[in-house]
Amino acid sequence: MPKYVIFGSFIGTDARTCMGRYANHEGFLMERHALTEEAVANRFRGMETRLADVDAVVEAERCFTCYDAPCTDACPAAIDIPAFIRALAVGQPARAASLILRENPLGMSCARVCPVEALCEASCVRVSDAGGAVRIGLLQRLAMEHARPGATAPVSAGSFRVAIIGAGPAGMTVARLLAEEGAQVTLLDGDSRPGGLNETGIAAYKMLDDAAQKEAAWLLRHPCIEIRLQTVLGRDVTLASLREQYHAVVLALGLAAQRRLQIPGEELPGVLPAVPFIAALRRGETVPVGREVVVIGGGMTAIDIAIQIRLLGAGIVHICYRRGIEDMVASEHERQLARDQGVLIHAGLRPVEIREAVGGGMELLMDFWHKEAGKWVPSGKSVTCFADQIFTAIGQTLDQSAWVDDPKLMSVALDAQGKIAVDALGRTNLPFVYAAGDCAGRSPDLTVHAVADAKRVASAILADLKSEVA
Ligand code: SF4
Repeated sequence: MPKYVIFGSFIGTDARTCMGRYANHEGFLMERHALTEEAVANRFRGMETRLADVDAVVEAERCFTCYDAPCTDACPAAIDIPAFIRALAVGQPARAASLILRENPLGMSCARVCPVEALCEASCVRVSDAGGAVRIGLLQRLAMEHARPGATAPVSAGSFRVAIIGAGPAGMTVARLLAEEGAQVTLLDGDSRPGGLNETGIAAYKMLDDAAQKEAAWLLRHPCIEIRLQTVLGRDVTLASLREQYHAVVLALGLAAQRRLQIPGEELPGVLPAVPFIAALRRGETVPVGREVVVIGGGMTAIDIAIQIRLLGAGIVHICYRRGIEDMVASEHERQLARDQGVLIHAGLRPVEIREAVGGGMELLMDFWHKEAGKWVPSGKSVTCFADQIFTAIGQTLDQSAWVDDPKLMSVALDAQGKIAVDALGRTNLPFVYAAGDCAGRSPDLTVHAVADAKRVASAILADLKSEVA
């Protein structure tokens, strides 16, 4: 059954319209066809990098097992990296996995999505050696394939009741950590599946074989965790009611609203926010794929959508970023992955206007900016390019729609960036109300940072509740 329709037109328009445009501008006609689900899976699987068990042992033996290991210092989740690599080197992958899970309950997804080249591997003492840094990310991925989830020792339920709103990486991690300490946890989420951005915002080729759902299922399989899905804050529950019923409430809402370009033409049907499109791909829905695609943004989401749309058959994919290549949030490793797929990355380009093109498709007008005396300023030059699809990947903001319906939420203080203001341990301005993950926004929006955040919040909740009853 066709899952991904490739056509040279933008959504809502007859493909023939675009064929006309191409005939006018490029002198050839596009062919309309569809990919099977299997063909798509094969294309995505080509992006996977794995170590065979035997290669993993060789790689693990390159590790010096450093005392005060800089790789562990660079890991936001503080995984004992030399210890788990040692376990792999001596043929104990299941033990390696349990060492990872001890510090990072999301060790599987972090092994797939962490920018290790900018974190642990960048700090490895072997980074300048001919063989490069120890390939910690691939070793972690292999170790997690040997994980024996569910082996956690049963705990007796304590008397603390905690409600967590949002079953994304931060919410799930807080839930699991508190449950392991005996707290009764209720995890609420508006979606029909847990996982948050791990489920909806990360490229399908990084999470093949339903990896995120398997991890979430393990993480939340605990007698002290109750999950209530399709439960929306402000509609089905209020902060006030949760505060009455629970000893503590954690806001792990993520950032659900898409940031807008705020330029004329943004409302055209071929202009799409990247995250909902990636989510549709993850759900296996049929999606349109343009022939000429422009992605606006410079982060991991921009890279994810560009690679995926290219793998799905887009002919030309441009990433346009408003500052310099070196300013992009996406690492050089990620950028090279995109280039390897034929994605063209352009710096110093700011979108100004999007117009319907004569004969179909869109014209995107962009100004060139350049650096002068350390500042990005307009160069006075501009360019117009054609596109069937334009994806915006310029970040998300806190969705405050729930705030309107829930007066108690109005009293949660926000910071200058419009995120929930918290102290170093995730406490908000309201007693026993905490915030974790992207919605609290103290660190970059990486899964591993959500885990680190969740660890701090879980320990703060336990400390605060214990001191309250002492
Ligand atoms: Fe091993 Fe490199 Fe970490 Fe040292 S810094 S423990 S060599 S991975």
